[in-house]
Amino acid sequence: MSSILITGGAGYIGSHTVRILREKSVQVVVLDSLVTGHRKAVPEEVPFYQGDISDVGLVRNIVETHGVEAVIHFAALSLVGESMSKPDLYFYENTAKTNLFVSNLLQLGVKKIVFSSTAAVYGLPEIVPIPEESPTNPINPYGLSKLMIEASFRWLEKAYGLKWVALRYFNAVGASLDGSIGEAHWPETHLIPLVLKAALGQRDAIQVFGTDYNTMDGTCIRDYIHVLDLAEAHVLALEALDHQIKSGIFNVGTGEGFSVLQVINTAKKLTGIDIPVVEAARRSGDPDRLIAKVNKIEKTFGLRTRYSDLETIISSAWKWHRNNSNGYD
Ligand code: UDP
Repeated sequence: MSSILITGGAGYIGSHTVRILREKSVQVVVLDSLVTGHRKAVPEEVPFYQGDISDVGLVRNIVETHGVEAVIHFAALSLVGESMSKPDLYFYENTAKTNLFVSNLLQLGVKKIVFSSTAAVYGLPEIVPIPEESPTNPINPYGLSKLMIEASFRWLEKAYGLKWVALRYFNAVGASLDGSIGEAHWPETHLIPLVLKAALGQRDAIQVFGTDYNTMDGTCIRDYIHVLDLAEAHVLALEALDHQIKSGIFNVGTGEGFSVLQVINTAKKLTGIDIPVVEAARRSGDPDRLIAKVNKIEKTFGLRTRYSDLETIISSAWKWHRNNSNGYD
């Protein structure tokens, strides 16, 4: 028997990836601290361990019990604002613990890893759409905490033969199409959940952070990828590692961008609710445009996004938020 270990499998992107792997009859085992994840996001039948990636004995036990042959490593802290006020926490939780975790895996003979990285490694991009070989100058500790791991993987590959794929996510959005699992962060900081919470009356209004950007309607443009498409990217990366592709870094986005106002207007249309909108100051560290160059992942893994049109993104997220207005509680 062999399994894929999913760290952070009770989180937003991890839980969707668990579901897709199971649909493909791949055996999975989940390790999650439940600091930000939700037990209910993982089906009862899936072997589940509550614990930390830095618990060397627990990881050894999981690897040996379940015959782990590869890992998808989602577990991390991911609040940009929190990383600004507590950089040491991010370098410890994300970078140091991942180093210990991967070192443990290598000693146990597990050499394949798919890793959650982020577009935040690019900082303020010079070229948009952003190619993978762009300079990396993160403007927050969160981005740096992930970039250091990517950099460490190159050396672990040379020294021990680690096979790795780092996926640099753009904006993960949407929910499972049946509305049974979705995004449940506390505190919530992301645009689409906040728009839909305003639609549900759980918030007074959606604030638009900056209306004087150098874009067609003055609001920021982002590359929104449906969480199911993002989850599929992990599955393809895992398969590719089995087929001896070269380790490396891949953007995961759609190559297309939408503005904050386009998102809000689509949500108004699909919900039929006149969501209150207020203009607010720019949020610090927001570049006007972040769009992925995606030809590398399309060519290497054959990724074709299927759910990342704005309608499917918002209608799936709406179904989730309407059915679960308090998340998993
Ligand atoms: N945004 C906004 N109001 C909000 C939250 C976000 O206008 O209440 C904007 C934000 O400035 C950015 C875009 O929406 O341009 C997406 O932000 P989000 O926090 O969802 O993702 P990020 O791009 O920061 O990863």
